[in-house]
Amino acid sequence: MDIYNMLPMVTGFMNYGKQTIRAARYIGQSFIITLSHTNRLPVTIQYPYEKSITSERFRGRIHFEFDKCIACEVCVRVCPIDLPIVDWKFEKDIKKKQLLHYSIDFGVCIFCGNCVEYCPTNCLSMTEEYELSTYDRHELNYNQISLGRLPISIIGDYTIQTVMDSTKKMKK
Ligand code: SF4
Ligand code: SF4
Repeated sequence: MDIYNMLPMVTGFMNYGKQTIRAARYIGQSFIITLSHTNRLPVTIQYPYEKSITSERFRGRIHFEFDKCIACEVCVRVCPIDLPIVDWKFEKDIKKKQLLHYSIDFGVCIFCGNCVEYCPTNCLSMTEEYELSTYDRHELNYNQISLGRLPISIIGDYTIQTVMDSTKKMKK
């Protein structure tokens, strides 16, 4: 076999060797990642028996204070989907708007927080409540009475166990 016939074979062997080394490096890297997870705690939460405590700025169900609302409709204008329903009448004697009904449909709300951010009287606030599931989507349309209900605190619920952040557990 002359040198010209051997050249492609040698090049092929060299390429094969390079590919083998690269594959071995990738396998080694994946093993290192797997090993780095061995001393970590599981992050699975056994809901509903265990619940995680939401972060301070969590955007859950909106709370509404009827008495503070001035029916200005800023919340409607800043809402990307014009969602809040502000029903009012003008009181001629006092020359002011009188709020009659207020509602937000959580089946449509995207929990962006714009209404809370821009409300001039701070009568809207985001709560830590996230368990809004229901069999009937119309039940998600909350009126001022449902919106005025204070959220149920997870810490105060004795039937469930709150779960601490796994990273905090490891520091202990
Ligand atoms: S922005 Fe606030 S005060 Fe104005 S209508 Fe909405 S909830 Fe009421
Ligand atoms: S949270 Fe966002 S989507 Fe929901 S009512 Fe407020 S502004 Fe509209």
